[in-house]
Amino acid sequence: MNILNSITLKFFFILMTISLIALTGTFTIQKLLIMDFEKYLEGEMEDRVYIAMAGLEERYRKIKTWQRKDISEEIARALMIGINITLRDREGNKVIDSSESLELIAPEIRRKILSIVGTPSFINEEPVNYPLFLKGEEIGSIDVRFLKSVRETVFKGRAGRFLIILLLMLGGVSIIFSFLISRKVTYPLRRLTDMASRVSHGDLTKRIEIKSRDEIGRLTTTFNMMLDNLLLQESLRKRLITNVAHELRTPLASMRSEIESMMDGINPVDRNGLERIYREILRLKRIIDGIEEYTSAQSSSMSLKKELIRLREFLEPIVEKYRTIHSKFLIRFDCDGSVSVYADPERLSEVVINLLDNAIKAMSFVEKPELSIRAGIKNGETFIEIMDNGCGIKDEEIPFIFERFYRGFKEGLGLGLSIVKELVDAHNGRIEVKSEYGRGSTFTVYIPHEGKDLHNSS
Ligand code: ADP
Repeated sequence: MNILNSITLKFFFILMTISLIALTGTFTIQKLLIMDFEKYLEGEMEDRVYIAMAGLEERYRKIKTWQRKDISEEIARALMIGINITLRDREGNKVIDSSESLELIAPEIRRKILSIVGTPSFINEEPVNYPLFLKGEEIGSIDVRFLKSVRETVFKGRAGRFLIILLLMLGGVSIIFSFLISRKVTYPLRRLTDMASRVSHGDLTKRIEIKSRDEIGRLTTTFNMMLDNLLLQESLRKRLITNVAHELRTPLASMRSEIESMMDGINPVDRNGLERIYREILRLKRIIDGIEEYTSAQSSSMSLKKELIRLREFLEPIVEKYRTIHSKFLIRFDCDGSVSVYADPERLSEVVINLLDNAIKAMSFVEKPELSIRAGIKNGETFIEIMDNGCGIKDEEIPFIFERFYRGFKEGLGLGLSIVKELVDAHNGRIEVKSEYGRGSTFTVYIPHEGKDLHNSS
């Protein structure tokens, strides 16, 4: 698989992009804060210059001239608040600058100032000129260079370092987290892909453990269910093939032995022998027809032609036919004229006929055979109930009677009830059996209305 096409990598990139946006946001906010802080410092510097200017103007007001000795302390003190000054008189000639003023002041004050200022470095190389006034008249000017404050430099340096360390740490953490999260989120998908590839190679035995209840969890559940279903279908298919092979073997074996005896001269090649072979051929045909009928019932859910069926009109002719053929049977029929069902009539008659045939077979040794057919509506479902007083079914046999080729009666293929079950399932219905061994059985088919208004439809 191309690594660039992997969903893990895509996830990883998405998470990394989000982290990068968040980190860039933090970085920008930090930069803006520092810029704001610098603006604040600039304003602060201006204020300091005005304080120094006010001091110098005050000095001038007292003695009306610039005396180096008189103003040296004022200029030297300005260094302590981060201002390097060169004082000029009205004509622009230099009177004194900060370093000269340091020479003129008392040594202890000089030491103090130097200890605060350290080795001076300047924010602005080009000095800024501020004029000095007294009563509206210009008395000189100062060239100002701002000293870099050690504390501010340390603060800004530290803030920058902190930011870089923070960015590196958060960046590292977000790379690790993005990697881990994308691996974790896509883990079930990778498991599903592995599993799908196993299934494509025919391995249906393994299942994926479901750990989450989100969409991927639900997808995994569905996938597992699909595997269960495939496994079931696979085993049903195998069983069907085994059953069919078994069923076909009996008539074929008897035909073979019949023909072999004829060929060996043990049995004569006469009409009786041929009739015996012919009966086996008919048996084979019945089996094949039954299998065909069963397969068609299995796929019937796709091709049902459902319509509204008025059950009394639908069942009456079937019941009448059975009454005619089995005249010694007491056959009761009870169905209200209003009972309807939404179903495929052809498939529904197959269901009823199969159940009636079984009931008739079950009653073959009963002295007073009684059959009852009832239809009605119960809890939003239409039911058709077929009750006989025949041989009944043993409790332990009931779970198997809907299986293909299961038969308790001597006659028959054992496919009738499995066909009935498939057809009822195709109608989203269900079939229930109640039976007492030796006393009779009741089979009830329920078909839901599925939101159809069975009274108003026509
Ligand atoms: P078949 O197609 O051979 O009739 P079915 O699948 O319809 O087979 O029935 C399977 C088995 O269920 C029967 O062989 C019989 O043992 C049992 N069975 C079905 N219906 C009844 C019934 N009404 N009374 C007693 N046993 C029944």
